[in-house]
Parts: sequence; structure tokens; C-alpha cells
Amino acid sequence: MAEDALPERLDVIAVAPHPDDLEILCGGTLAKLVKQGYKVGIFDLTSGEPTPRGSLETRKAEAEAARAALGVPVRVNVDLPNRVLMDGPEARYALATQFRKYRPNIVIVAAGRTPGASPDHLQGGLIGEAARFYSQLTKWNDRFAGTEPYRVPHLVYVPFPFEAEQRSWHSQFVVDISDTIDQKVAAVRAYGSQFDPARFARVEHMIRSTNGFHGARCGYLYGELFALPTPVGAPDLVQVVCGSKGALAPVVLPAASGVVSGNG
Ligand SMILES: [Zn+2]
Repeated sequence: MAEDALPERLDVIAVAPHPDDLEILCGGTLAKLVKQGYKVGIFDLTSGEPTPRGSLETRKAEAEAARAALGVPVRVNVDLPNRVLMDGPEARYALATQFRKYRPNIVIVAAGRTPGASPDHLQGGLIGEAARFYSQLTKWNDRFAGTEPYRVPHLVYVPFPFEAEQRSWHSQFVVDISDTIDQKVAAVRAYGSQFDPARFARVEHMIRSTNGFHGARCGYLYGELFALPTPVGAPDLVQVVCGSKGALAPVVLPAASGVVSGNG
């Protein structure tokens, strides 16, 4: 497929099984990336249907309203089957084809085993990792709708907060979403078929609590947690260390000395 026939490149692609997963996991960061001028796409692996109170039409409209709330320009449904989503060659081809079309610098993959919630979440993470690798494979263009190989430089995990295991990632970081938490909550509220007012109140509480906790660890009002399969590379120690604000409510020393120092 000729390059000029492809859609515009995206800086960041975020992938998860169901419309509403990414809003809950990292909607604040996606909205923030857009504000920062990056080109962002949300890639839902499935329609999310069937669900008890949803339909294909309502879910599609809700996903569109959530996209608009976050200001994310591109939202693609990869059209894999909900409830029976399984990592396997066909699913990997389908997602890798999207990576080859949109040629992102960073792919964010929702990751985690979520007993009590959909098993699609674990499978989606596996598909995301594998598709990132498959995207670069040569001599198989026919399996990827005629697209050319593309190597995705960076993979980032966004962990489900209700994961079964406590994992030790090689590195974690928190994005300050204090300025976009309200956009995030509005995007989740768009899924009225999934969250009636009573359920939404509990989900909002969970979001604000989780993001409040992660943010507080780094001195932000709200933050979203991410992880990397590698240690964080630091071209500049000071830039990395000073990205955190430190304590959210630092002790302010009496100014009698005229000097307020950070610690001690
Ligand atoms: Zn889900």
C-alpha cells in the first residue's frame, strides 16, 4: 500500500478491548496528550456488545460522545469479537494492520488479568503486545491488508486498577491529569448504557480515588499510572527526577529563618 494512501500518522495509539476501558484507565492522559499537540488515536478491539443494557447503536454513539469529550481526533473499532476475544494469529493481524496504517511512535496497551471482570482484558493485552511485534514482520504483507512493515518504537502498559496480581514492572510513571480529570469523568459518563446513575457514582468514586492515590504519590492532585517493559531511560537525571512535584502537601517551615528548604 502506497504511503500516500495511508491515513495521517499518529503519535500515540491506545488499545483496549472495550469502548470505555481506555476512558477509565487513561482518559485523562489521552486528553492531555491532545492538549499538548500530539496526534492520538483510541483503538477499541471490540464493540463491547452484547451487554445487558447496551446495543451496537447506543454503544457506538456513546463511544463517539466519549471521544469528543476527550478531544481525541481518531477512534477506530478493530471489530474483533467481544466476550470471546482471544489472542491468536487473526486478532494479531487485525491490530497490526492498524499499526502499519497509522505508524504510531508509541502504543499504549491496557494490561492485566481481571477476575470478576471480562477475560477479554487479559487477551487484549496479549494481542496488543503481539501485534506490536507482528507489525514489523516482512514477507507477510498479504496478512496485513497489503500494508508495509512498520516497527512500533515504544510500548507502554496502562494497568487495570483491579488487576489480580500485584506486579513488579521494570518501571512505572504517573502522568499528571489534574487538568483533564473532569474531561475523563465526562467521557466515562457518556456510557449511559453501562453506567446508570447509581453505578456511575461508584465508578466516578473509584476513578477519583485511584487517580487521587496515584497522583498523590507524585505530588499531583490526580494522576494516571503507566508501566514500561524496560527501565526508564534518562538522558537527563534532573528532568526525570524533577517531573514529580514531591509531596502533595509539603510541610511549610516557619519562615523565621527567611529560608524554606525542601527537606529536613
Ligand atoms: Zn472492559
